[in-house]
Amino acid sequence: MPPPVLDVRALSVQFETNEGPLRVLRDVSLQVAPGETFGLAGESGSGKTTLGYTILQALAPTARVTGGAILFEGRDLLGVSEDELRRIRGRRIAMVYQDPRSALNPTTRIGAQIAEVLEIHERAPARAAGRRAQELLELVNIADPASVARRYPHELSGGMQQRAVIAMALAGGPSLLILDEPTTGLDVTTQARILELVADLKRRVGAAILYISHDLAVIAQVADRVGVLYAGELVEVGPTADLFAQPVHPYTRGLLDALPHLDGLRGLVPIEGRIPRLTDLPPGCVFAPRCDFVAPACTAATPALETVAPERRARCVRWPTVLATPRRSTAAAIAPETVASDAPLLAFEHVSKYFGGAGAVARWLGIGAPPVRAVDDVSFDVRADEVVALVGESGCGKTTLGRLAVRLLRPTAGRVRFAAPKPTDAQIVFQHPDSSLNPMKRIGPSLARPLVLRGLRRRERGRRVRELLEAVRLDPDYGARRPAALSGGEKQRVAIARALAMAPQFVVLDEPVSALDVSTQASIIRLLAELRRTLGASYLMISHDLSLVRHVAARVGVMYLGRLVEIGAVDEVFRAPSHPYTRALRSAVPRPDPAVPGRPIRLEGSVPSAQHPPAGCRFHTRCPQKIGRVCEEAEPPWARASPTHWIACHIPIAELSRSSEEARP
Ligand code: SF4
Ligand code: SF4
Repeated sequence: MPPPVLDVRALSVQFETNEGPLRVLRDVSLQVAPGETFGLAGESGSGKTTLGYTILQALAPTARVTGGAILFEGRDLLGVSEDELRRIRGRRIAMVYQDPRSALNPTTRIGAQIAEVLEIHERAPARAAGRRAQELLELVNIADPASVARRYPHELSGGMQQRAVIAMALAGGPSLLILDEPTTGLDVTTQARILELVADLKRRVGAAILYISHDLAVIAQVADRVGVLYAGELVEVGPTADLFAQPVHPYTRGLLDALPHLDGLRGLVPIEGRIPRLTDLPPGCVFAPRCDFVAPACTAATPALETVAPERRARCVRWPTVLATPRRSTAAAIAPETVASDAPLLAFEHVSKYFGGAGAVARWLGIGAPPVRAVDDVSFDVRADEVVALVGESGCGKTTLGRLAVRLLRPTAGRVRFAAPKPTDAQIVFQHPDSSLNPMKRIGPSLARPLVLRGLRRRERGRRVRELLEAVRLDPDYGARRPAALSGGEKQRVAIARALAMAPQFVVLDEPVSALDVSTQASIIRLLAELRRTLGASYLMISHDLSLVRHVAARVGVMYLGRLVEIGAVDEVFRAPSHPYTRALRSAVPRPDPAVPGRPIRLEGSVPSAQHPPAGCRFHTRCPQKIGRVCEEAEPPWARASPTHWIACHIPIAELSRSSEEARP
């Protein structure tokens, strides 16, 4: 094994705050070899991003390295001069962040930005730098580098921008590339291509890659070795295949058991409790308050990172017991609910929603911008006592449909029929709970407000607030707290309680868990399933996460560029026959299992503008199964694959069954 490019030894970092020192990283050691991808996994507050910044020596002024060393190519970065650091940063060590826009100058063309890095670091003459910039764009799989080099950042899609940023990071020929959540915020099909690119770069460039992510499924697909961080400590390290097949630390096991799986059979087991406050760490093992295996020995002293097998280490004093105990994820999985009445509670009838655009006269005269056609002629229903999910990538119209369902928006054309008598029978839970909670108001009065509207007296309201808090598994004393004192998961529980305060018959769940950590996500999904059974309500769940949908929905609708392209029972949508877009979407979902490498179907180009949607089938500009001009000219008809399963495509159902089966991932 060649010597590591990066060798972090017993690193500790702390932030000075008004509440006292925050010990963000404690005794962290890891190595990354040339040509190796090391995946650093952790939930929010684990310290993973701080580690990236510490390596780059780009910490905030309030942060301080309190111990350890960061050896880069054998030299301790903590001891080098500022001048030398400047030479290393961006050239020998490059970092790519989650949001590509923060790394790109909006007023400079892409090619010029990359060339500038080459001119500064490599002292390359302008013309040679321009040529090299195009080569780098080609290296990151950009098909038309000359044209992309001439464009400004805003003219590129999110995925293309991230490729350009990676090209820029490669400009100095780094021996260490730090990728910090580079695909978070990108659509799943775009993410799949960036992950392919990372795997490809490892082969072609030979750099050491530190890949930081909260998403274990992504780590499973790209990393050779994995480190799991929890509350500032590395709790487990090992080769990816071994660690996923047999996690040793109870936290790693918990994380893997919490992940939803595309087969809908495993996962979604929550880790109870919450990450400790870094100002107030528990004695001994930092995971002890949440650990099912906790014993007196665990709290006596901080466990060391012990070798548990060749190349594997874990920070747990009871690891032999943990290893001997079978995992519980399969037995505890929740099943999607399939029983529903025939009566539609909510029906979308040829619903369209357009935003902006010139008035009718201007359009008739052929002047002015056309409207954004967010939703175009969509029809489906949600029955009483049913969970229907809408999936699709950003800009497909699913969120607009959710808002139309609860009358936050009015349709431009068509009708939304709601069979319940009162408008308050329909409620919505947003992705970010902050948008439905007043930060100045305590939780109790926030929950009581809708009860006033229902005409409940003061004493009844107090009782009902306590019941609502209990229903979402929060202590009644949460009523006296303000939102700022709650974690993200707790706030989402309050937002759910608030939606339930009106005893609704129908609830839109708009990405209800996508802003939450995986361990919290599982408990919220279980809570929603349980509450639905108690209330007998229907849900319309909007999600970009196909694995999650598989666990909770009875029926699923797939949307692309404002249109519904497929709808059916959940098991039908997850197997053949499938719409070509559904197939691509499914294949792009990263599996939290390195033994099942992804084989994503490549979608060329990006989603067209909703102001100028393509004629015929809207997916024809990217469809890998396009059959000819009919796709460009004629609207695809709805074809019945089963009494409950419909697909809008020109390819006959029998043929879709064959092609989907052949390519089944
Ligand atoms: S040391 Fe004890 S509390 Fe900590 S993870 Fe191991 S078993 Fe759990
Ligand atoms: S109608 Fe044509 S372009 Fe559209 S999904 Fe079917 S095969 Fe592809």
